[in-house]
Amino acid sequence: MVLVRGEGTRVWDAEGKEYLDFVSGISVNNLGHCHPRVVAAVREQAGLLLHASNLYHNRPQAELARRLAELSIGGRVFFCNSGAEAVEAAIKLARRLWWRRREGRGEAPQAADVPRVLVFEGAFHGRTLAALAATGRYLDGFAPLPPGFVRVPFNDLAAAEEALDATFCAVLVEPVQGEGGVVPAEAGFLGGLRRLCDRTGALLIFDEIQTGLGRTGRLFAYQHYGVVPDVLTLAKALGGGLPLGAVVAAGEAADAFRPGDHGSTFGGNPVACAAALAALDVLVEEDLPARAAALGDLLLGRLRELAARHPVVREVRGLGLMAGLELAVPARPLVEAARQAGLLVNCTAERVVRLLPPLIITEDDVERAVAVLDAVLAASVSRPQASVL
Ligand SMILES: *Cc1c(COP(=O)(O)O)cnc(C)c1O
Repeated sequence: MVLVRGEGTRVWDAEGKEYLDFVSGISVNNLGHCHPRVVAAVREQAGLLLHASNLYHNRPQAELARRLAELSIGGRVFFCNSGAEAVEAAIKLARRLWWRRREGRGEAPQAADVPRVLVFEGAFHGRTLAALAATGRYLDGFAPLPPGFVRVPFNDLAAAEEALDATFCAVLVEPVQGEGGVVPAEAGFLGGLRRLCDRTGALLIFDEIQTGLGRTGRLFAYQHYGVVPDVLTLAKALGGGLPLGAVVAAGEAADAFRPGDHGSTFGGNPVACAAALAALDVLVEEDLPARAAALGDLLLGRLRELAARHPVVREVRGLGLMAGLELAVPARPLVEAARQAGLLVNCTAERVVRLLPPLIITEDDVERAVAVLDAVLAASVSRPQASVL
């Protein structure tokens, strides 16, 4: 399928077929496609300054850094171009701080020293080498990977407590695992990690690349849990559809990088930052996180009704407009059947149908999407030989 045009919650392919988009570029197009204010900001900035280099400041970058820090955890912001780059930067930041503290204590580095990062089963942090090592899947054929990542089960605080000690520079966690199958952190888990980090000195890094910027019904998912991280990684929806990633670092972590420690040619590009500022304005002015919370309740309620009618649905999980339908069978055929019926959803973790609609969807859009899923679930049961399921 070749997509050629998008507007609001709809996209069109090269044959002119229209789709209701419940993928949103995997939580990128949170304002829908081609939001007029984002498009206008891109056009205006493109005519002013396309690129300048981080040897100099540019206005959209500085303004965006200020707004992101104000709206989240304070501190300072590093800009890059993607989620994986944001994760890489956060890992480098945590290692740099760990070594800095050691230097501060006058301890000479030993060859055997490895500052470690605690990560979780089912995680996804990107596809570059260190991000892949943190992810722990999709590794085959890419050895060797950077060392220093220790993995324990998600939502298992006792396992995290047992693993964590002063050799860890960071705990890296998604408040709601996305690629892992839409799995929210349980109450108490993130708060428990916060206490463990405070005890051992590890930085608490929340990867909100997928959950951030309104998706879960709050501007950032950590706000549901009342737990504040030291470091926040952002990307996906941040650039309003343009490539942009960011690391927000507060407290001691904000000073871990000194000039020259890390860098990116395109990071903080003025056009991407102008698009991000426009997208952030719309998100805040229209209170789209609240809309995501309300529409997410409707969507999850309807999906639970579907689950009650279709035994092939094992579980419905989600937070705000980040929803997953876990099936007893592989989800890909159902995703394809929905596409043919004019609804874009995607498959993650093999058996999970993931729904990430734009935050601007209407109740009608929700009802339409659920009707399509209802029909394809029913068809899959009446025609199992067609291997829809
Ligand atoms: C998508 C994603 C990434 C990677 O982002 P890219 O821009 O594809 O590199 C990292 N972490 C999470 C939680 C993601 O959802």
